[in-house]
Amino acid sequence: MTTTTKMIPRTVLGIPGLQQPCTDRKCPFHGEITVKKELFRGKVVKRDINRSATIEWFSSHQVPKYERVELRRSRMRVHNPSCLNAQIGEEVLVAKTKPLSKTKHHVIIQKIQKNSLQVNS
Ligand SMILES: [Zn+2]
Repeated sequence: MTTTTKMIPRTVLGIPGLQQPCTDRKCPFHGEITVKKELFRGKVVKRDINRSATIEWFSSHQVPKYERVELRRSRMRVHNPSCLNAQIGEEVLVAKTKPLSKTKHHVIIQKIQKNSLQVNS
């Protein structure tokens, strides 16, 4: 068994990869997968040991009959690459990729710092 660790990270959608040792084959920067420019943004609410995470985000939907706005919650299972290692509560950017497992079709490509971007107040 040969251990070939690619230390040079790729740049994915203009986001440079971290200079870290990474043996994750499902990593968009060091691994073998490619991502599509179909981005989602959410907050990590669950982390699992097998480099999986669950993100969630809220969107408002107008109900014309009652003239009210209802809050809808969306959840998504995503892959959490070992070089990024997003923690619970962090805001992340995910991109669509090929099916990684039964429930995962997206991968985290960036952590969003709370101080730098303030879109939703
Ligand atoms: Zn990596």
